[in-house]
Amino acid sequence: MTVNLLDFDLEGLTVFCERLGEKRFRAVQLFRWIHQKGASRFDEMSDLAKSLREKLRGVACIMAMPVVSQHISADGTIKWLFDVGDGNAVEAVFIPESDRGTLCVSSQAGCAVGCRFCSTGHQGFSRNLTTGEIMAQLWFAEHFLRQHLKRDERVISRVVMMGMGEPVQNYNALVPALRVMLDDNAYGLSRRRVTVSTSGIVPMIDRLAQDCPVALAVSLHAPNDALRDTLVPLNLKYPLAQLVAACHRYLAHAPRDFITFEYCMLDGVNDSDACAHQLVDRIQAHAGAWCKLNLIPFNPFPASGLLRSKPDRVQAFAKILNDSGIITTIRKTRGDDIDAACGQLAGDVKDRTRVMVRMERNKTMRPVSIDDHAPRTEGADA
Ligand code: SAH
Ligand code: SF4
Repeated sequence: MTVNLLDFDLEGLTVFCERLGEKRFRAVQLFRWIHQKGASRFDEMSDLAKSLREKLRGVACIMAMPVVSQHISADGTIKWLFDVGDGNAVEAVFIPESDRGTLCVSSQAGCAVGCRFCSTGHQGFSRNLTTGEIMAQLWFAEHFLRQHLKRDERVISRVVMMGMGEPVQNYNALVPALRVMLDDNAYGLSRRRVTVSTSGIVPMIDRLAQDCPVALAVSLHAPNDALRDTLVPLNLKYPLAQLVAACHRYLAHAPRDFITFEYCMLDGVNDSDACAHQLVDRIQAHAGAWCKLNLIPFNPFPASGLLRSKPDRVQAFAKILNDSGIITTIRKTRGDDIDAACGQLAGDVKDRTRVMVRMERNKTMRPVSIDDHAPRTEGADA
């Protein structure tokens, strides 16, 4: 069986190379070829000894996931759907900004947390992605975009773990992936430009603080336990007081001096003035400006039975928070026309059926591109 080198952070690749009898600097060279240059074939790696390339060809590969579809939104947002086998698919979304852009990455096929307002949650949990599958999203998107935009330097300047899945419930695959994102020999992103978003698994927030403290976003969605219990079932296990305390502990390690709270605005559910005031009380019980609030207009899907708050309600809610000194922003929804907005990734159950049909049709498909310049994957025996 061949090893997919996208599965390794630099430490892992070093161990792998040492087993082949190669020194650490060879691992660094290989790592740079893969992540900085987007190489997928060993014979491209011109400064590696021919003997090493031969050796690698027999045991390793650089293998992305087959692209099932690619959609480009009118606002430039690009959504890719990747086949992860057994009828499962995950998505990554590129959100362009003025110069560079953000990639939203998935961590699991499905999600076990089961939030009421989230279409991924409604799908249930299929499986954890491997480090290689998490990294393949960034590797593919970055090198695809560089080729497409004819750019030599980095295109993706921020990664948010806000696609499908609960990243910290896939902790062992997540942490090496974060390390590759941060590594100067790979993507070289600063800790503040890599964000892990979590629905609030308290012990994992503490572990992340120790192992790889990147920017933290916490999905709050309610100002009290009674309401949060109904929206984020995990709240029964880790209620708000515990969650907020964990956020405080994280601050001591965080690359930014604030935590971002995400709050999905649901019409008539969590968007009243009373909710806003309760939220202020809860957050201000902790001294200082230690968090920011990001209001996300709900992206509806039929099975949820929920509606998006009206824009003036969102504005009024934001005003109460801003007036009380809590920095509050309203997220602009992007990629609406291609269902690339939060919580719509891989769609609802009906869409999942369409995905399966498309996957069936494209079974042999490899990464494709707008103009056939996509990075290609090549297996050991290809
Ligand atoms: N599981 C993690 C990260 C993935 S979800 C988490 O829950 O934080 C990323 C963000 O999208 C979360 O803040 C989540 O609450 C939000 N979200 C999920 N479904 C949504 C929907 N239908 N509309 C708007 N935001 C949604
Ligand atoms: Fe899972 Fe996040 Fe969706 Fe909740 S919002 S079901 S934690 S992906």
